[in-house]
Amino acid sequence: MMHQSPHVVTIAAPTAGPTVALLGGVHGDEYEGVIATRWLISHLRSALVKGTIRAAAPAHPAAWETTTRESPLDGKNLARVFPGDAKGTPTESVAHELTERVLKGSDLLIDLHSAGTSFEMPFLCGFQDDGGSVAADSRNFADIFAADFTWRHSGKPAPGRSLSAAFDLGIPAIYTEGGGGRSVRHDELTGYADGVLRVLHQLSMVASTPSRAKSSVRVLGDGNTDAGITAPASGYMVSRVECGEQYMAGQVLADIVDIDGSIIDQMRAPQAGYLMMRRRDARVQAGDTALIIAVKDTR
Ligand SMILES: [Zn+2]
Repeated sequence: MMHQSPHVVTIAAPTAGPTVALLGGVHGDEYEGVIATRWLISHLRSALVKGTIRAAAPAHPAAWETTTRESPLDGKNLARVFPGDAKGTPTESVAHELTERVLKGSDLLIDLHSAGTSFEMPFLCGFQDDGGSVAADSRNFADIFAADFTWRHSGKPAPGRSLSAAFDLGIPAIYTEGGGGRSVRHDELTGYADGVLRVLHQLSMVASTPSRAKSSVRVLGDGNTDAGITAPASGYMVSRVECGEQYMAGQVLADIVDIDGSIIDQMRAPQAGYLMMRRRDARVQAGDTALIIAVKDTR
């Protein structure tokens, strides 16, 4: 039996304060955010001293059941249909419920993603920066979250995301990414939970805060996973740079080889930067999204 409606958990502290919305598993093949959110729910039942937490994890139960990015019911990606539609398809209806019951009235959205089945990413916290005051708040929260990378994206969020729904409601929003590949790493799981707790501490919602293990690298670039550097030819992508690794301008990031290992084409860095996403499956068609890169953020 597939449950279509996300189960929303609300935790209210005895003292009034900010409301923080937490989403995990907007994509059904991303385990990290769901496990971290549910650990946080259990922890915060006693640790929340002020304000309210509203959480949904898995946020998209039908996709979670099948471990897929899209819904098995209508083929839609929940992160492309926000703010949703009560009378729409099953996925549009889930987005509508999350917008109405989790996002609306919140002071901050934290959406915990990871790279999912097909991609690999470093542990990062991202936000959209359109230059406005809500974006300044998002940036502040992303800095406090202190993932390995803090990724700033210029402009408004792309339509259909939870972040775009929050943006339209004037709510600051941050999101995370991690290794994915249907694996879960201890450092990332604790990194997700610790990052959320640091943000809640900043809002005076919890009494203590985990210390930062190391300082975050600030990067700038387009984080849209529908875009990125595409494979210039069909073949097998042989990567030369790891996720999160820094490279120089002109450096070869990956080769495209044929089945005999002969190089057909190469993907070079247009400028110095960091590799922020890499496709996992080496077999590529020309035009497939293969890599996403970012430059050092000098703000
Ligand atoms: Zn995701």
